[in-house]
Amino acid sequence: TSPMPRPDRTRVMVVANQKGGVGKTTTTVNLAAALAVSGLKVLVVDLDPQGNASTALGIDHHAEIPSIYDVIVEEGPMSDVVQKVDEFDGLWCVPATIDLAGAEIELVSLVARESRMRKGLQQHLAQDDVDYDYVLIDCPPSLGLLTVNALVGGDEVLIPIQCEYYALEGLSQLLNNIDMVRAHLNRELAISTIMLTMYDGRTRLAAQVAEEVRQHFGDTVLQTTIPRSVRISEAPSYGQTVMTYDAASSGALSYLEAAREIAERGVPSTEVKGESAHG
Ligand code: ADP
Ligand code: MG
Repeated sequence: TSPMPRPDRTRVMVVANQKGGVGKTTTTVNLAAALAVSGLKVLVVDLDPQGNASTALGIDHHAEIPSIYDVIVEEGPMSDVVQKVDEFDGLWCVPATIDLAGAEIELVSLVARESRMRKGLQQHLAQDDVDYDYVLIDCPPSLGLLTVNALVGGDEVLIPIQCEYYALEGLSQLLNNIDMVRAHLNRELAISTIMLTMYDGRTRLAAQVAEEVRQHFGDTVLQTTIPRSVRISEAPSYGQTVMTYDAASSGALSYLEAAREIAERGVPSTEVKGESAHG
């Protein structure tokens, strides 16, 4: 296979959907690992107080560990809290600790409360010795100030959609928030990628949901769907991504394929289709 294309400049992708359990964290860590095994340099920023992305990458994130909290609340340098992920040459992680649970409230009274993540990240990316191809930000399951900070700090939004009943419910809320951020805080933000996850090819429902999402969002939806896979769900309990846990599994291969599709499509130039249909 041909080498994975590298972007001209760092692509900052925000993995967001305010619903819990749709595959945000799973997508963040496995996509990051897939890009890293393909030779690219990737930073995962864990912005969920649960720290599930940190856990899945085998990164220590107990309460005393320097974390994203120190960047967005304390305005400390991101370079001080980045950790190397052992299993991969090109993968780093900014962990989240339980401190972050309070940040949603603490941020309210801080200056520039929506853009603190952006400031910390941009300062880090501007350093001479930092040259990531991708930054993937894993959001919590809410539309609060942490998710807003991610949206203000990113260039692109990646929305994972679980192929289940109610898949599209609540999505218009997320799209409205993205519109609002775009109107007031980050004009450059684009919904570049919609990824269908936990696809169960044996059910009619999954196919129907996939069809509906494709009709609504057109080419923004990746051709690659992520199958429901036991290997994917087992990997985090070993502090691993599916890329190392079972590299030959359908789950690992599908994330590799999704990574390639994202890399080959490149930075989006057009608006998401169907966007005017919501609200
Ligand atoms: P979120 O971050 O949106 O809350 P997660 O990524 O934590 O969602 O996924 C929710 C649950 O579903 C987790 O237990 C995860 O292991 C499982 N899961 C995610 N993707 C898959 C998949 N493709 N196949 C099987 N289980 C999955
Ligand atoms: Mg999560």
